[in-house]
Amino acid sequence: MILLKGAAVSAKIKIEIEDFIKKLNGFLPTLAIIRVGENPDDISYEKGATKKMLGFDIIVKHYTFSKDISNHDFLIEFEKINKDTAIDGILLLRPLPKTIDEKAIERMIDPDKDIDGIGPVNIAKVFSGEVSAYAPCTAEAVIEVLKLNDIELKGKAVTIVGRSMVVGKPLAMLMLKEDATVTICHTKTVDIKHVCKRADILVAAAGRAHMLDVEYVGQDAVVIDVGINVDKDGKLCGDVDTLSLEGVASMATPVPGGVGSVTTSVLAKHLCMAALKKLDIK
Ligand code: NAP
Repeated sequence: MILLKGAAVSAKIKIEIEDFIKKLNGFLPTLAIIRVGENPDDISYEKGATKKMLGFDIIVKHYTFSKDISNHDFLIEFEKINKDTAIDGILLLRPLPKTIDEKAIERMIDPDKDIDGIGPVNIAKVFSGEVSAYAPCTAEAVIEVLKLNDIELKGKAVTIVGRSMVVGKPLAMLMLKEDATVTICHTKTVDIKHVCKRADILVAAAGRAHMLDVEYVGQDAVVIDVGINVDKDGKLCGDVDTLSLEGVASMATPVPGGVGSVTTSVLAKHLCMAALKKLDIK
């Protein structure tokens, strides 16, 4: 079984980003990272994203708010960042506290700065297959892992476990655009093992540690693990029991070091695209 490591994919995306940066001709794009509260997962993602951006000399502005901020105050603060002409792209760490109207934020975000595809304009573009869409970075990272490893999608049976708006649903649309035949599974799917086992490409995005083992995987399938979980020993792990797939799956992504590490590369790429659009550079 070949391990599809994220680093090799990120190295290829880096070449694209460097090309965009050259075109920007000295202009340094600025990313706003907005965090509410002190959730360790958010802080860890913020650190990873910041490190990736600084590696490209991208400017990162951090906006951190107390988890107790009122909905009214947060909407005002968000709108200030959203309207700031010095900001080229926004990464909003989610989920937000329940006291904040996340749907209102999704409707407010400037589609040109919505580089993680959370707002209705970009989501609609993803669903209608428009190339100008900013897809949610994790969903696009899965496509990049497959494409940059020369894994054919056209005509392939793809099964995705998970139907969230962050991963499962947009990823299904990106897969359709690549001419794959897509099945989405969720908690009400009947005989999920059978549905997964017939897939040429199986994507796990359920958020359940080690849920998918060899019983879910067909011979020579490609397995992409989007899950980021903590196992009972406190170690980071995916949704797939990767060790059990040896001799069955042809390829699989590891966790950590797989899709997660590509997500921030896609974010950096989207930010450069947003800056190029703002400056009207083709
Ligand atoms: P989510 O919003 O909780 O959605 C989970 C989806 O999985 C739901 O559609 C749920 O079905 C389905 N599901 C859960 N348990 C299942 C089961 N036993 N059988 C079948 N379906 C099941 O999670 P998410 O935000 O999409 O994230 C999914 C995973 O990806 C998490 O581990 C998260 O940490 C990770 N993630 C990784 C990245 C990255 O950069 N690599 C980014 C975002 C998320 P129902 O709809 O029926 O409830």
